[in-house]
Amino acid sequence: MKNIDEDLLAELKRLRGNAYAPYSDHPVAAVVESGTGRHFGGANVEVAHFKSTCAEASAISAMANAGDRDIRLVYVLGPGGRPCPPCGDCRQRIREFASPETWVALIDDEGRVQKTYTIGELLPDSFGPDHIPG
Ligand SMILES: [Zn+2]
Repeated sequence: MKNIDEDLLAELKRLRGNAYAPYSDHPVAAVVESGTGRHFGGANVEVAHFKSTCAEASAISAMANAGDRDIRLVYVLGPGGRPCPPCGDCRQRIREFASPETWVALIDDEGRVQKTYTIGELLPDSFGPDHIPG
């Protein structure tokens, strides 16, 4: 599998280093590439009542707050070199701003792409904005 570029890996590691994960000890970073080509990053932020914010949700919020509305790609760097796929809630959040062909790539500490999926594979036959009558 191919590697991501060094700058992106460094950004993922910087973000993961800023994760606030005192309860799970499971720091995660995510970077979303928007339709404009800009990158937005986030890390998980836990709270004592366990209604925490995942890295993907943080990155998606940063993107939406900057005015972008389309996700092209999502990169996720978990701890310990093990693949860290998005949780169910994050799959739905990615789906909100993605097409079924949007890629999610799981990265290891050496920058290798461990696994890729489309959001259509991660969340098949999903509910989305087009199901809300407008
Ligand atoms: Zn999540």
